[in-house]
Amino acid sequence: MIKLTKRQDEILEIVKQNGPITGKEIAEKLSLTRAALRPDLAILTMSGNLDARPRVGYFFNDNYEVKLQAKEFIHQKVTDYKAHPIVVEKSTSVYDAIVQLFLEDVGTLYAVDTEGHLAGVISRKDLLRASLGNRNLHELPVSVIMTRMPNIITINPDETLLEAAKKMINNHIDSLPVVKEEQNNTYLLVGRITKTTITKAYLEIMEEKSH
Ligand code: ADP
Repeated sequence: MIKLTKRQDEILEIVKQNGPITGKEIAEKLSLTRAALRPDLAILTMSGNLDARPRVGYFFNDNYEVKLQAKEFIHQKVTDYKAHPIVVEKSTSVYDAIVQLFLEDVGTLYAVDTEGHLAGVISRKDLLRASLGNRNLHELPVSVIMTRMPNIITINPDETLLEAAKKMINNHIDSLPVVKEEQNNTYLLVGRITKTTITKAYLEIMEEKSH
């Protein structure tokens, strides 16, 4: 974002209050000549703060700030917004996984092996599906019902929230495990990104900017 000068801020304020307004009228309000204003008006138009229409004048571009906020939002890194992953060992029973889901108040659990490497994803629907049969949920390990590697869609800490949002929408899933790749195609689980995380980050950025 370009830092505006005091005069450019004054011009913006005048156009916000009075637009559409001609360059001549703005100049009069500031007791300046039209020529003295020209560079400032050029900067404000090029930067997108103002729009200009021939024979109508300058008017304030309401979308400009929203666009800037959106731009800032999508460049945020996953690592700054990721939440703690809630994990279970892959030998955990479906029954205990359901209890864990309620205790932790999350929608998705991640299964890890004994070294903390990502092994599977267990969503609400996976648990519901498993519960529909008359199987003994105490005996059934989550490893039987989970989505496994290599089918898990993951994200790296240095990817952006935009990439995370795209992956979730394109794959119809609610969350992504945040992972660091290690040797032999193994992934160390370091966090999770959910649709809620994205919505929260969006709200934070929008609210911060509008104050
Ligand atoms: P829910 O089942 O509660 O609607 P999801 O939409 O996230 O939650 O999950 C739908 C299916 O996709 C489930 O079978 C789940 O195991 C799987 N799944 C969830 N997250 C991922 C992911 N990151 N990568 C691959 N599969 C996933």
